[in-house]
Amino acid sequence: MSTGTGLPEPYRLPDRNYDGYVFDLDGTIYLGDDLLPGARELVAGLRQRGAKVLFVSNNPTKDPELYAAKLTRLGIPADPAEALNTVVTMSAWLAAHRRDSGVYVIGEAVLQDAIAAAGIRLTEDPAEIDVVVASYDRGFVYRKLQIAFDALAVHRRAELVTTNPDVYCPFPGGRGEPDAGAIVAAIEACTKVRCTVNTGKPDPIMLDTAMDLLGLRPDQCVMVGDRLSTDIAMAVSAGMDSALVLTGEATPDSLASAPADSRPTWVLDRIDGLLV
Ligand code: PLP
Ligand code: CA
Repeated sequence: MSTGTGLPEPYRLPDRNYDGYVFDLDGTIYLGDDLLPGARELVAGLRQRGAKVLFVSNNPTKDPELYAAKLTRLGIPADPAEALNTVVTMSAWLAAHRRDSGVYVIGEAVLQDAIAAAGIRLTEDPAEIDVVVASYDRGFVYRKLQIAFDALAVHRRAELVTTNPDVYCPFPGGRGEPDAGAIVAAIEACTKVRCTVNTGKPDPIMLDTAMDLLGLRPDQCVMVGDRLSTDIAMAVSAGMDSALVLTGEATPDSLASAPADSRPTWVLDRIDGLLV
């Protein structure tokens, strides 16, 4: 049977509907500032038949208000409550599990502000740092690496955590930018301290938060995304169905060599292939 993607079996287009749709954003709903074909019609169609939608992203540089505004501007009306990203999951994780800790954030202003707003004490004093949060940071300089080094390898009392494991963020036209995973790697290399917590995809922290927001169970939902190692892997580890859309990072070649823990249930050329 044809998959609609030029791919051999077992990959197929979806043949069922779900109560909840968890969408990755970049590479799935839009690429940069351009909506991907069929995204607007798909989300409108799903909402019309009463399905719940949630947009999730590993990008730690925006907050739900910014996502809602961007989606709405692109023609997909969205409320901040329908957007979840690593700024939200990291702030919530620190507030729930490290409330009284001194936290050093290598990250951008939106992340720093959200963590401070969650009531967490931020500090740059290595003797007071209990948690180093390593994230995507276009202001990353040697001084920040030194503070992390002093906290983790000299004072030896801090732990290393990250917002998202992505080592680079792909841009249209084959370009890209180093992401949080590259900063984690630099810190791990000089301190020999391993990063122990990731609040982004594929970690269950992100999936559990998404299920709480939707008020649904994983077996009622499908995860839709363009990355095998984050979007699809997160769904597989939760026993949740997943749909890979070939409009972003993954290619037919990377799909063909995907390990068992990141093989999608469905494969789509265009996201509106989800409409059954
Ligand atoms: N990290 C950064 C810095 C990004 O800009 C992006 C995409 O915009 C991502 C990660 C991946 O985000 P997503 O999970 O939406 O693909
Ligand atoms: Ca993506």
